[in-house]
Amino acid sequence: MARAARERSEQERESPHHDATGLHLSALPPSEADVIDVLRGVDDPEYPGVSVVDMGMIAGVAVRDGQVTVDLITTFSGCPALEVISSDIVAAVAALPGVADVAVRRSAEDWDTSRLSEQARAVMAADFTVAVAVPGRPAECPRCGAAALVEQSPFGPARCRAVHRCGACSEVVEVLRA
Ligand SMILES: [Zn+2]
Repeated sequence: MARAARERSEQERESPHHDATGLHLSALPPSEADVIDVLRGVDDPEYPGVSVVDMGMIAGVAVRDGQVTVDLITTFSGCPALEVISSDIVAAVAALPGVADVAVRRSAEDWDTSRLSEQARAVMAADFTVAVAVPGRPAECPRCGAAALVEQSPFGPARCRAVHRCGACSEVVEVLRA
């Protein structure tokens, strides 16, 4: 980018209320629903096949003059996938016509398992043998449905998950904590 263009875009970032005609975009900015649609194609790298939307990680989307802001709820603090997810979101949204810039902000909202869609729960059970714990109810085995999961170790592959074994069918199951 030429120096003049870079300085202009920096000025635009500093003054969000600038006149939209100052942007030389060839397409109209997408709607917030368009952005959500694109995010349905961005998977949580820990669970390929489960999108960040189905994970319940999108707190909100804002579009202003081609500047898109995505508020991301992090599922578990310290999960290393966060940077990958952020850059995947930026790449996917930036490819939309009319998008000048994409920012991913970390939402202050807390994530819990109630934010998972039914689709997310189904894929996690079928493809990853992950059971989702719901407060006040024992997690059920994704293989046989028995509520007979016995914790094997306090920490699974990530701090957010715990390895269990089913007392009924002996399947090793990861339980996603509520
Ligand atoms: Zn079982």
